[in-house]
Amino acid sequence: SELLRLLEEAGDDALQPGHSGKPNSSSDLPLESGKMKRKRAQTPLEKYGLNYLCVTDLSTQSWCEQQMVYGRELPQQQAPETVVLLNTGKSIHLARELEVHDVVKVHTTSKEDSWAIKILNLLSVIPVLQAGGCVRELPVFGIIEDVFLMGIIDELCYSAKGELELRELKTRGLPFMPSGAQKKKDYFQVCLYKYIFDAMVQGQLKPDVITSHIHLRPEQPLGSHIREHAQKVGFTVTCFGDLLELMYLNMTLSDIPSIDCLKIEYSHQESNTLLGTEVVQFEEEKVRERAQYYLAYWKGRREVQGVEIEEAWKCQSCSYSEICDWRRKRAEGPEQRSGPKKSK
Ligand code: SF4
Repeated sequence: SELLRLLEEAGDDALQPGHSGKPNSSSDLPLESGKMKRKRAQTPLEKYGLNYLCVTDLSTQSWCEQQMVYGRELPQQQAPETVVLLNTGKSIHLARELEVHDVVKVHTTSKEDSWAIKILNLLSVIPVLQAGGCVRELPVFGIIEDVFLMGIIDELCYSAKGELELRELKTRGLPFMPSGAQKKKDYFQVCLYKYIFDAMVQGQLKPDVITSHIHLRPEQPLGSHIREHAQKVGFTVTCFGDLLELMYLNMTLSDIPSIDCLKIEYSHQESNTLLGTEVVQFEEEKVRERAQYYLAYWKGRREVQGVEIEEAWKCQSCSYSEICDWRRKRAEGPEQRSGPKKSK
């Protein structure tokens, strides 16, 4: 049957605080217990009204955490050339995606409907993977350090050797391969995809974990448009919990292997030429440690960090260099800075 990817067309009720970036009011927060009854400080997750993070939030953080925070708070201050580069990158991704399937808009009426779309997109490609085919724009979900993460894998294919290979496409404005620092950020991104995808196929992501982390109601009836599309891809479902169960069962019982190989393809946007391919080594312990370090910021366990002096060259091309507190304090001297030293 025709392979489709569903795209959300949100109705009024579907608006959700989950990853809107809309700051929360501090009055929403519970009071700390104890004699003082003082309000505790908001964690960044609470401040930005987030109940999950994207894999790209963490990989962007690995370039410069302070820049990632400014990007969230002051997106309008991003350099126009960066915005053009990102938009062109998105168009190239969409064109590649349309080579393997069509994209259709589906009307949603609840936040459960929005998540149902992501799950249906995953469910519809599982048979393709089982049959040894190639899939693009595959949604993946997982938990690290009790934080829910979501990502979209560019491409999963079987290699000539029969290994499941993840391919990430990175388009560049400049006609040469990126610096080591840029590659490091990209390596971390694909390692996170493998980390959460493997946990899914190994049955570690249980349906109740998803609903409790994202505050979704398993008993919520799905909208008629969602049910219609589920039927088209062969699933009869009535409520959100039905889809979660199907996802869990299909991921764990379909014999899809863990990802064997991680590759990143860099190409030049303007000429559409391949600049090079990197094969990334996956070291689970290191990936977990780095994720824990970045998530400690989101959970309010440490202050935001900017780049260390040896990476100060990153500030030269940063859209926020004029207003950056971290940069100013670094120029004033180390004693001005607060927070623990960045771990290596
Ligand atoms: Fe990070 Fe430097 Fe930009 Fe500040 S100026 S946000 S430290 S890259």
